[in-house]
Amino acid sequence: MDKIISHLQNSKSILVVSHANPDGDAIGSLIAMGLALKAISKKTTLYNESPIPAVYRFLPAVNSVVREVGNQTFDTAVILDCGALDRIGEAVSMVRRIPVIINIDHHVTNAGFGDLQLIDTSACATAEIVYRLIKQLSVSIDENIAASIYTGILTDTGSFRFSNTNKAAFAICEEMVTLGVDPYKIAQRVYGTYSLGRIKLLNLALDSIEISYNGRLSIMTLSQDMLNKTRTQPEDVDGLINYARRIEDVKVAALIQEHQNGDGTSETCGNYHVSLRSDGTIDVAEIASSFGGGGHSSAAGFNIESTLPDLKLKIFNLAERL
Ligand code: 5GP
Ligand code: MN
Repeated sequence: MDKIISHLQNSKSILVVSHANPDGDAIGSLIAMGLALKAISKKTTLYNESPIPAVYRFLPAVNSVVREVGNQTFDTAVILDCGALDRIGEAVSMVRRIPVIINIDHHVTNAGFGDLQLIDTSACATAEIVYRLIKQLSVSIDENIAASIYTGILTDTGSFRFSNTNKAAFAICEEMVTLGVDPYKIAQRVYGTYSLGRIKLLNLALDSIEISYNGRLSIMTLSQDMLNKTRTQPEDVDGLINYARRIEDVKVAALIQEHQNGDGTSETCGNYHVSLRSDGTIDVAEIASSFGGGGHSSAAGFNIESTLPDLKLKIFNLAERL
């Protein structure tokens, strides 16, 4: 931590990045970190490859997050909430050329990329680690930073329900409320409203659920065609897997999502993202790692090129071990 603090204090131009297809922790950490670095007068650029999901657009400074960095140069890159550097997306080759890469994360599968690391797998969210870093930087947490940290912790703990929910989650969120966060307002923004398309997508997603012969594994499948039909975006898929996870006796749920370039036919080879969730008794980070991905013990994922029937077979085969 001390090395990172002194390095940041000596940096002149900092690029802050979080993972593509960001969730609340990726956005919350990114903005909190950016606002703190601006508070200590650092030239800071916030980058994310994907558009900011609609439910997080209420956060302060979201409009300063860029999707292109042009030909700016940076002396330091801060990578947030990424178990592996390639999670940031296309910018990875540009970021690799930045002299110092700082890796701040809480994934168990983080192998420690970069020059300086602040990895705490017991942290409930990257926002928890960013909170500690901001304290060490002696930046006073204003209402904007507080809202960003609160949102990161709220969403990554599934509203204080997931197994990563720890004491710090409550302690930090209580402090953020003291600093001006309105929990009801944030909950309304993040969970309060669904577009009609998202409800229709939920219907298709629920209808796609298949269960293994022993009832311990469920698969939900979302095609690009379903997103097109319901006029939804990849961000609208966030959280749907929890329905497949909640089914009685299910230990592991998988959500197969066709990538944007998918052609929608099941016989041809396509690119898929598979999300895995467990009831806490199975380490899905290990399963995801065996397919080249990673994550947390009860929430993980991987990318794979396969035909849909082959992929389902591979996943259903996992049920034998459950
Ligand atoms: P999700 O299923 O929501 O995409 O991801 C669940 C968790 O697994 C997240 O913490 C995410 O960072 C991680 N994860 C998902 N896909 C990948 C992947 O392809 N590689 C790695 N290293 N982690 C992933
Ligand atoms: Mn996270």
